[in-house]
Amino acid sequence: MIGAVAAAAVVGWIAGHALAFVSLALAGLLAWQFWNLVRFEQWLRRRAVTAPPDLHGVWGEVLATTSRIYRRKVFHKRRVLVLLREFRRMTSAMPDGAILLGQNREILWFNRTAARWLGLKRKVDYGIRIDNLVRHPDLVEYLDRRGGAAAARIHLTKDGDRWLLFRLVTTNTTGQQLLIVRDVTSEARLESMRKDFVANASHELRSPLTVITGYLDALGEDPTLDPVWQMPVQEMRRQSDRMRGIVQDLLELSRLEAQSGEAERSAVDVGGMLALIRKDALGRPERPAIVELRLDTDALLLGSETELHSIFANLVSNAVKYTPAEGRVDIRWWTDERGGHVEVRDTGIGIAAEHLPRLTERFYRVDAGRSRKLGGSGLGLAIVKHALQRHGGRLDVHSVEGRGSTFTCHFPAARVQWRHAA
Ligand code: ADP
Repeated sequence: MIGAVAAAAVVGWIAGHALAFVSLALAGLLAWQFWNLVRFEQWLRRRAVTAPPDLHGVWGEVLATTSRIYRRKVFHKRRVLVLLREFRRMTSAMPDGAILLGQNREILWFNRTAARWLGLKRKVDYGIRIDNLVRHPDLVEYLDRRGGAAAARIHLTKDGDRWLLFRLVTTNTTGQQLLIVRDVTSEARLESMRKDFVANASHELRSPLTVITGYLDALGEDPTLDPVWQMPVQEMRRQSDRMRGIVQDLLELSRLEAQSGEAERSAVDVGGMLALIRKDALGRPERPAIVELRLDTDALLLGSETELHSIFANLVSNAVKYTPAEGRVDIRWWTDERGGHVEVRDTGIGIAAEHLPRLTERFYRVDAGRSRKLGGSGLGLAIVKHALQRHGGRLDVHSVEGRGSTFTCHFPAARVQWRHAA
């Protein structure tokens, strides 16, 4: 190009019109550049359908680089599209529902399963908060807790009867969260069948047992009973009493499980209740020498009187059962800023650490033989745990084998009613 301008300058100088020739050469050059630019721009606009033009010089290089970048972009775009299509196919075939939530719980994306179960609509529901679409207090509470160990199990009756388990997974640091939804309807139905079965069986067993116990009691107290039969009848009375205890505990557990939600809020005089339970304990033929009660507060507990009685009576009965005559049991009721607490401490046989996590399972007994001999059903602590849960409370167990155990019930402050001095 510089050569062409120089040649024009030389020819122009010879002809005596150097300036005119150079200007003409420059104008030609500009026109050529402009023509290349136009062709380049036309190709850019239709680059998807037309082949690149044949350009020379710098334009050829610019065109080659642009076309390479463009081809690479097309390649990556295709790959991302294939991946995205694959991902969509996979997530819609997933048996679980998945919902991606933004920082404010707004829906960013969901798969087909989640849409079907929760009645979500694509486009319309994007950007809307999940708790505005699935209005269930348990889900809101679960999301407020930002997940946690236990997933939320929710019964939805809209569009059929379905139990769904929601689990929150935090995906990254931007605050996005993935909500995984699983259908647990069949598990829930099985569980409810099991509960119904236990409740019905216990209920059916109660009447025949009452009759048998009644006759055995009458027989046992009959002075004309043949002495040969006295021992067997005593044993039969003991065993039928045990059976009645088990049936009673099973019925109580079934009743507790059948009641969903929180326990009622009647004002219960814990001090008075514990004093009566202590009196009962002192009346037992086999008991530790000392059963002490310490009341640090006269506060009331807002709860169900029968359930609270069942909690404390079970704990005190266990402490008395598993503590030898020379031991002691200490019962204490106190409050602090966190709430109300009832503690039952004994110096009995204690429990080895490996048993502690399973203690509140139904029928779990550290030493089944010993528990049976002492008239235990293995259901007491399961009842305690359930009844406590219904009061928003929690059970703490500390124990050292051979030294003794401490069972503490913690109740939330919202369940405590302090009595103010007048
Ligand atoms: P049980 O009717 O057998 O007492 P529970 O559910 O009340 O059933 O208790 C479960 C098991 O926990 C008992 O079998 C016993 O082994 C153990 N346990 C409960 N309380 C005490 C205690 N205070 N001291 C020692 N062991 C205890």
